[in-house]
Amino acid sequence: MSDSNSHAISASAPNHPEARHVDAHLVIDKSEWVPGKHPNPHRRHEGQTEYLERYLRCIECGVEVLKKRDFPVECDGGRR
Ligand SMILES: [Zn+2]
Repeated sequence: MSDSNSHAISASAPNHPEARHVDAHLVIDKSEWVPGKHPNPHRRHEGQTEYLERYLRCIECGVEVLKKRDFPVECDGGRR
């Protein structure tokens, strides 16, 4: 018996429990610190050097958008 249970689980297939469907897309929330001042004046403040930008990303086709409605109608993921 040469059974090994040291296999790395899902190293190349990250699990996304938070993913949800938005139309044809499978979407996760993302956020990223961006250097500079926030583009929206209401969220800008004195001395701001970076801001947290929140966006949505489809894990199927890789499209990234700021708002759900910005997603293209169709998802290209899985059609390659
Ligand atoms: Zn998609």
